[in-house]
Amino acid sequence: MGVYSNSKLKTFEQCKFKYKLRYIDKIIPEIEKSIEAHLGTCVHLALEWLYSTIQETGNAPELDDVITTYSKAWVKEYSDSIIITKKWMSAADYFNKGIKYLIDYYESNKPFQDNTIALEKEILVDLSDEHQLRGFIDRLVYDKENDEYEIHDYKTSETAPSEETIEKDTQLALYSLAIKDLFKHDKQVKMVWHFLSFNKEIELKKTNEQLALLKQSTLDLINEVESTLEFPPTISALCNWCEYKEICPAWKESNLNGNQSDRYNKRYGQQKL
Ligand code: SF4
Repeated sequence: MGVYSNSKLKTFEQCKFKYKLRYIDKIIPEIEKSIEAHLGTCVHLALEWLYSTIQETGNAPELDDVITTYSKAWVKEYSDSIIITKKWMSAADYFNKGIKYLIDYYESNKPFQDNTIALEKEILVDLSDEHQLRGFIDRLVYDKENDEYEIHDYKTSETAPSEETIEKDTQLALYSLAIKDLFKHDKQVKMVWHFLSFNKEIELKKTNEQLALLKQSTLDLINEVESTLEFPPTISALCNWCEYKEICPAWKESNLNGNQSDRYNKRYGQQKL
């Protein structure tokens, strides 16, 4: 039984060389985390604490306590190896961003009475007899009034989401397959993305037909992963956040040549490193 994750498949689509380093060669990079990832982790931990406190006590904690939880997580999880790519930004700037995200979220969503039934829920999507996809749902809600499950996902990215981007997002749609199976529930699952830096929510539902197509395209991608023998690099803007760039010959050469990604891809696109 092959078990995949969304990030494993996304890595393959982004850059096959990076996929090889991470999942085949199993190289653990020296630089493990970007400041953006650190910010995301700490905000997620604070929101998880907020809802778990409500589950345990029936009451929402004060905003100050949520901020304190976030601050403690920031200090505990921080390490000197965290990289800041945007040289005009400091760690304190990122820390303050997280506080703003939490204040906005708290004020927009209090008193948090939406019947959250699980946090950081691990799920397995059955794609076929041989393949599963494992994932974690930030927050699962059961809306009793509408007899509807909701998958909530927090995003700390500063890129404004377009409708097209959301429509193409496969992660939550695949997770909704697992929720339908788990609860033997045929109604459409509501997917809710919380874009915290914009204090904006986007909701979407997928039909059974759309989910069936997605399941098949995911299996097709897994088939490609399992039959791939060559792993060429793909230079893109995402290289700036790649934890392997210090050991990536393609990135080094691209930098020497002034990040001429098109020229690079033309040269290395079909070659095996
Ligand atoms: S730096 Fe870019 S080309 Fe190199 S492994 Fe990372 S994503 Fe791929």
